[in-house]
This record gives sequence, C-alpha cells and structure tokens, in this order.
Amino acid sequence: MLTRPPLTLPPDQMREAGRRAIELIIDRMNEGELGPVLVRRSRHDLEQGWDEPIPEHGQDLVGLLERLAVDALPSGMHSDHPRCFAFVPTSGNYPAVLADALTAAFLSVPGAWLVGSGPTQLELVTLRWLRELLGLDGCFGGLFVSGGSIANLTALTAARDSLLGGDLTAARVYCSTQAHPSIARALHIIGLTREQLVVLPPDDRLRLDPALLAERIRQDRDGGGRPFLVVATIGTTGTGAVDPLAELADVCEREGLWLHADGALGAAAAATDRGRRMLAGLNRVDSLTLDPHKWLFQPYELGCVLLRRPEQLKQTFAMARHFLDSGYLMVSESEGLEPNLSDYGPQQTRGLRALKLWLSLKTFGANAFRDAVDQGITLAEHAATLIGEHPELEAASEPGLGVVTLRYRPPGLPPGPDLDSLQAELARTVLEAGFAMITTTAVRGETVLRMCTINPRTSARHIDDTLDHIVACGRALAARAERSAATAHPGR
Ligand SMILES: *Cc1c(COP(=O)(O)O)cnc(C)c1O
Repeated sequence: MLTRPPLTLPPDQMREAGRRAIELIIDRMNEGELGPVLVRRSRHDLEQGWDEPIPEHGQDLVGLLERLAVDALPSGMHSDHPRCFAFVPTSGNYPAVLADALTAAFLSVPGAWLVGSGPTQLELVTLRWLRELLGLDGCFGGLFVSGGSIANLTALTAARDSLLGGDLTAARVYCSTQAHPSIARALHIIGLTREQLVVLPPDDRLRLDPALLAERIRQDRDGGGRPFLVVATIGTTGTGAVDPLAELADVCEREGLWLHADGALGAAAAATDRGRRMLAGLNRVDSLTLDPHKWLFQPYELGCVLLRRPEQLKQTFAMARHFLDSGYLMVSESEGLEPNLSDYGPQQTRGLRALKLWLSLKTFGANAFRDAVDQGITLAEHAATLIGEHPELEAASEPGLGVVTLRYRPPGLPPGPDLDSLQAELARTVLEAGFAMITTTAVRGETVLRMCTINPRTSARHIDDTLDHIVACGRALAARAERSAATAHPGR
C-alpha cells in the first residue's frame, strides 16, 4: 500500500481546505463597517479557549480554519475598519494575501542567488518600483525587512560602521523628542548608550530644528564629542510632522554627518505630487526607512530600508565579512551581477516579503496607490477643517502627514490637568462605545486626541461621523462632570 510522506494531505483535502480558507479570507476582507472596529477580550477569556495542551493527534483542517477565523484571529483591533484611526492602520489587500500564500508554497527565499534567483529578481524589481514611486534617485538600493524598526536598525548599523569604524567612544546621535522609540532601541542594540543620543526639543511646528541642531553639534565637538548621525522623521507618529530634510541635509553635509530619515509613517506621501513637495530634500538623505505595511496598504510584515550607497549595507552585513569556518556556504557565494540579498542585511534565510507589494502594484497599478495615498492626505485636511470650524473642538497641532490631533474643549474649561484628563477619558469612552477607534498622544506635554487618516477604506463621511461621535461623547462627559461638581459643592 502506498503511504503518504509525513506532514502532507491528499490533494482533495487540500482543495477543500483551500476553498474554505479563501471563503474565510474574502468574508473577513469585506467586513467593512459592518464588522467591529475593536474586539476586546481578556487574557482569562482567551486562555479559556486557547491555552490547550499540545495536540498529539491531528484534527480536521477545515474545522481548525473556521475556529481560528471565528474566535482568535478577530480578537483585537480591525485596522481596516473605515473608522479605525488608532496608531497607524493598514488596510491590507487581497493580492497581497495571495502573494504571501504563494511564497510560502514555493518556499521562496531571496537570500542567495543560487537558492532563490527568481525571488531575488522579484525583490530587486519591486525595490526599483518603490524607488520610482517615491521619486528617489536611481542610486538608492537596499532590501525589504520585517518593518520600520528593523529598517531603522539596519540603516543605523551601516551608519555606525561607515562613520565610526569600531570605536563608539564619545559618538553622538541627534534626533528630536518626536522621533520614534525604535530609534533609541536600535542605538541600544548597536552599542550606544542613552547618553550618546542627544534628544532635542522640536520647533513650534514640532519639527527637528536645524539651527538648534547645528549649535548643539558645535558644542558637542568642542566638548570632545564625535557627532556622526542625525535622525530625521518623515511624519512623526504623534502628529505627522515632517522634519525639514533639505535644511538638515545642509547641516549634515557641512558637518560630515550621516542623515537617516525615518519615513515609516510618512515616506509613502512622496508617491503624490503634494507629498513630494512636503518632502523636499528626500533625495539628499543617506538612508531611508519605509513601511509598506503602513501607508502602502500591505499586510504585516513589510518594511524597507534604502541607502544612497547600498554597498554600505554590504560592507556591514556581507556574510564573507563575518566568515567563520562555514565552508558549506561557499557554493552559494555571489558572483558579481547576481547578488545575494543576505549580504545586505542581518538575515540569511529571508522570506519574499516583496511579493505582496509586487502583486498589488501589478494588480491595481501605481496610480491606484498614488490616489489612495493622496486620499489619506485629503482626509487629514478635511478633518482639520471640521475641527477648526467646530466651537467645541480645537486642533492641537497643525495637520501632519495623514495625522490630526485635537481636543474636545467644553465652553469655559481652560487648558490644564482637567482638560487633559477629559481627553483621556474621552478616548476611553470612544473605545468602549465601539463606534470608532482613536487614541491619545502627548503634544507639548498635554494629552490630546489623535486620528490617523490613511486607511483607504475611510471616506469623508467616516471622518464626519467620528468627529460628531467625539463631540457627543465629550458633551456627555462634560455634563456628568458638571453634575458631580454640583453635588460635591451644592449651591456653587
Ligand atoms: C511605526 C513606526 C516605526 C516602527 O515601525 P514598525 O513597522 O512598527 O516596526 C518607526 N518609526 C516611525 C516614525 C513609525 O511610525
């Protein structure tokens, strides 16, 4: 009798499970606003259902898929919901889901050319398209990674090696208070202390201030410090502010420093005409982080790191540089024109993450992406206009790339701790009501509401409804506060 190899299923069962998986995927992706924006579950509740013993015997795959899709996977935030404005939502897209399944089936690994020539070629062409989409010069090159944090880490490691060699003594890095924590974490990983990161207060538009930066660099040099790296942010996560790239590039050129731009949130805006104007100077950075799993609508995980001189990645990461007695790798050593992408970053075996962007760009065309990014900018402007017109709402910062911040301010309540705690309570109330998802952030030490408007499923109506909802929740909270103040101080 013919026996099947271990860990395989007969083709008819594969087909049946595959059809069911596709149905579940299509249902999930078409939930829209009929689905929940957030499914809150306690640890206890989820443990009850899912903290099971290791399964010693196999079960029916279709049943397992259904159980996953009904119970565990939907728990949490639904970032593709049109009223999800929290953090940095992504919508995902169907070709990308299929791309992830295909690369898994074909065991694609764009690490060494010999092992994954086709996948490597697909990654290289996707990188070029991304470069062209954003109007970056032809010299930029790099690779796809898991996300913005690892893109930052990869770029900062190359910057350290290029400018410091092996000696980190007295090295100094500059960013503003608005930079993302992944920058500080990356510096920690590559061996710099927190004291070596100079965190500057931002200007009145919450941007890194080039004059202050230049001044601080001079002081640090006078004090024996070794400035080597400036980190600019393209679209700060808090308010969407864009650091002035051209002026920062001037400072860095003059001082011989590396300019890294963390564009995890905002670099995609360069796909549009007005975004490109806001990002003037983009081509002058030494390295750039992008996060297609944010504003290029890809499912997790897809980040990207690009360097103006990509060979600097190779100098840091080439397997040959870190040679041990690993003769077994010799057959896959790269020959000139046929690159091993595992030489350009910290991973040897790597997935073909690029394929989801490749397939979605091919399916929808670059113009659909440009329009979708543009819509996110328009929606932020639309929200800012409504906030400006409403007597009980006020903007907390100027509208940034796909981000607005605001306060609900009842008549007569001045800025201060009461107004701050009202915003925090308001955000909680909105979460509990389950109509929309927004978060709070801190702007100049004050608690404010934050909405990220880059979800392509969101329309102006969803913004209008959400702002109305915020006002309604705010009025209810303010009325309750007044009633309890009246009870505490009767006759006042
Ligand atoms: C999201 C974000 C990151 C981190 O990216 P991940 O993909 O979450 O690792 C870094 N910088 C900025 C500005 C971000 O918005």
